[in-house]
Amino acid sequence: MHEMGIVLHLAKTLDELAEEQHITKIGSVTLEIGEVSGIMTDLFTDCWDYFKSRHPVLSDSELRLETIPAVTYCAGCSGTYETLRYGKECPYCHSAETWLVQGDQCIIKEIEAETEEDEAEAEDETASEAETESDAEITSEVETDAETAFDSETASAPEDES
Ligand SMILES: [Zn+2]
Repeated sequence: MHEMGIVLHLAKTLDELAEEQHITKIGSVTLEIGEVSGIMTDLFTDCWDYFKSRHPVLSDSELRLETIPAVTYCAGCSGTYETLRYGKECPYCHSAETWLVQGDQCIIKEIEAETEEDEAEAEDETASEAETESDAEITSEVETDAETAFDSETASAPEDES
């Protein structure tokens, strides 16, 4: 199950972050999910609920999902267009030399968290902000599916075996 792997990765990332930043409780996690990431948001939410019950730091957390539109860049005319609408071929110049520039990723956009500042008055106060932002990308599992889906459409690439 695709979603399970991503949530597993996400939960691990959050666990590590919690340890690093002395986070006691995560309030909400905002994820940006690409349109062609292959992630089913319903399934994703189910997996999340499962992990929530197993990770104390996540027990009261809220999962927010935001969709990133898929955009394809065309090398023929240097333009960009909506991937879902036009697919692999550029609608302007009909070049097939195109590639996805966004929309196949799953990114942690924002994490709201509480830190243990009551218990430990750390000298380093940087970690005690109520809001922790993270640029952590969890693209590894996501890309495989999206890419196979797109490559199968352009199965025209010649195999050169000598
Ligand atoms: Zn074009």
